[in-house]
Amino acid sequence: MLHTTKANGTDPAEIQATDARHHLHPFTDTQALNDKGSRVIDRAEGVRVWDAEGNELIDGMAGLWCVNLGYGRQELVDAASEQLRTLPYYNTFFQSTHAPVTRLAKAIADIAPGDLNRVFFANSGSEAVDTMIRMVRQYWTLKGKPYRKLLIARDNAYHGSTLAGASLGGMGPMHAQSAPLLPGIERIRQPYWYGEADGLSEDEFGLACARALEDKLLEVGPDNVAAFVGEPIQGAGGVIVPPATYWPEIQRICRKYDILLVADEVICGYGRTGSWFGCQTFGFQPDIMTMAKGLSSGYLPISAVAVGDRIADTLIESGGEFAHGFTYSGHPAAAAVALENIRLLRDEGVIESVASDIGPHFQSKLRNVLGEHPLCGHIEGVGLIAGIALVWDRKNKTFFDRDVGTLCRDECTAAGLIARACGNRIVLSPPLVIRRDEVDELVDRLRTALDNTYAQAVTGVPQ
Ligand code: PMP
Repeated sequence: MLHTTKANGTDPAEIQATDARHHLHPFTDTQALNDKGSRVIDRAEGVRVWDAEGNELIDGMAGLWCVNLGYGRQELVDAASEQLRTLPYYNTFFQSTHAPVTRLAKAIADIAPGDLNRVFFANSGSEAVDTMIRMVRQYWTLKGKPYRKLLIARDNAYHGSTLAGASLGGMGPMHAQSAPLLPGIERIRQPYWYGEADGLSEDEFGLACARALEDKLLEVGPDNVAAFVGEPIQGAGGVIVPPATYWPEIQRICRKYDILLVADEVICGYGRTGSWFGCQTFGFQPDIMTMAKGLSSGYLPISAVAVGDRIADTLIESGGEFAHGFTYSGHPAAAAVALENIRLLRDEGVIESVASDIGPHFQSKLRNVLGEHPLCGHIEGVGLIAGIALVWDRKNKTFFDRDVGTLCRDECTAAGLIARACGNRIVLSPPLVIRRDEVDELVDRLRTALDNTYAQAVTGVPQ
């Protein structure tokens, strides 16, 4: 691993000690972390980060699926600082607006597919999801169907960590810790072909999973349902790429029963799959769409809900107030950064490159180098997102009955790569500006990590 001098004179031991004393980390076993000591990240440039001990790592996760333009983009820094100088804050509640939020709303409407012409702002993906839930329920109330309240989501989906997000998502440990969950949520199976296909072809399986929605609608009564919600690709669930037949069939069923179709684009949005939005890659048109992360490349927190005319017109024409919003809805500095981020993604042809150059290179490199690796049961992905199923025996598709993902994740770190484990799946989502030589380096480091994991997890050790 490359070692460099410390950039900021940070003393990692002091930061770790203070962190252990005072900081409660998200999604973390604090006791275990404090015993081990947190990794102090010090600085970043391009697709790499350096910790305070001088270790260099390729960030194969773009932070937390968000730093789409990579680190160190001066244009984004300038957009923030200029805006902070002229108008650091003003709210958008009381009949006021400002240039960055207005321009950003138009920019999002311009790139969003179909008639998603109006935009509501929040700060995180979870808040966008909460906003969406309140909006679709209010829509049906205004339509004279207040009984249409149910939301249908999927097992192993992730829609955020507020009470609404955790309730809507399909993550068992989150449910256990936040019970009682919000009422009015139903779930159907996920379209995880490699793990759950039961002998069906990909296409057949996609249709079968989509038709689980129709079964659920008939079970609960379509007239009680407000919306179906899904991530185009399930990200935190382990990068589950649905078969090509899945989303068109979901859309057909939603249209048949007049169910609103919601795309949670928090991960897939802003180029990750080679289109502006994942729904474009998978060929469906949502009625409403949540987004965050890549909207600002993570430089400042901002999220949004893009709303189709059908819903927006109803909310507007009702004449009443939509009693919802956040102090920082459309924060000027975050909006200025997001606007510049969209300009750069567009003017630099970043998304075209994900679709036709760097994305295909990443996908084929992963398969060429790791496709036959004894730990890799299956590699799936589109553009610059991928998930790898780690298996005990690839020929017989035997899954591990213990946690090998975390071991592999730690081996990745030791090899100079930040990857993430979702159960026994390793997921990758590097910055969209990653170059070919950097992809090659990433995959080489991953192979080292897989070899080292294999040596510990499989060789000579009974399952
Ligand atoms: N929806 C999806 C699809 C997500 O992946 C995430 C976060 N990973 C969220 C919502 C929640 O976003 P946040 O963490 O910004 O609240």
